[in-house]
Amino acid sequence: MKFNSENLLRSSKGLAVEELQIRLAGFRGTVWDGDFGPGTELQVITFQKEYMKAENPTGIVDQKVFEALEEFSKEFPIDFDKLKCPCGECEGFGKGQFKDQYREGKPKVEAYHNFEYPGIHKAILHSYRAAQCYAKASEFGSSFLSSGYRCHVNNKNKGRKSTNHMGKALDCDFPLTSNEDKRDDGIRCDKFRGLLVEKSNFQIGWHGRNKKSLEPSNIAPTWVHMDVRSFSKQYLQEKYFVTTEQELDSNDL
Ligand SMILES: [Zn+2]
Ligand SMILES: [Zn+2]
Repeated sequence: MKFNSENLLRSSKGLAVEELQIRLAGFRGTVWDGDFGPGTELQVITFQKEYMKAENPTGIVDQKVFEALEEFSKEFPIDFDKLKCPCGECEGFGKGQFKDQYREGKPKVEAYHNFEYPGIHKAILHSYRAAQCYAKASEFGSSFLSSGYRCHVNNKNKGRKSTNHMGKALDCDFPLTSNEDKRDDGIRCDKFRGLLVEKSNFQIGWHGRNKKSLEPSNIAPTWVHMDVRSFSKQYLQEKYFVTTEQELDSNDL
């Protein structure tokens, strides 16, 4: 990533702003539309407060904030090997099948979209980085990735129907200590969801449009599932999906 030396601030527009909005998806978060408004400013302020520990956050991306963004990516790396589909037939991120095809007998909405997106959505990956940052700063400690891509072959093998994990989602969890059991795990995952709602502006479930979602505890009792299923098509374009960390961090600001 390069910084093109012009500060990004209210009313800035363009691809650099879009990249910024995606990078800060876990710091409150707004839609990635390339238009720097109050939502984006809040993202920058939140990043300055939460990660940079700035006392007087400016809401402006200058050289210093840019450097902190780079540092943040390095501090919270993402192991893409852990995100690859385990089916043994695809290369790890599906085969690009079934674009604009939906589950039979169901409405044509993203929840039933059968498309194997070409990678994992950048906003969910950056949100996971922020989640790690928040976990580190609290009682939670380090989480690990427990599930990433799951293509149609994997779904068939497992008797699963949901297409959420075809690029729009990841699951994470926390290791149990020796004197903990499933119940402790459930309590911790619940608390962590609460933290992500407060800090990252996630919603529990999928009611709100264009908001990052967490599966509720009745579906994901002992892990934390995050996804971008509620976003409109324009925010789920193929250019937002990546298969390597290098690709994730390659766009300039
Ligand atoms: Zn697969
Ligand atoms: Zn999941």
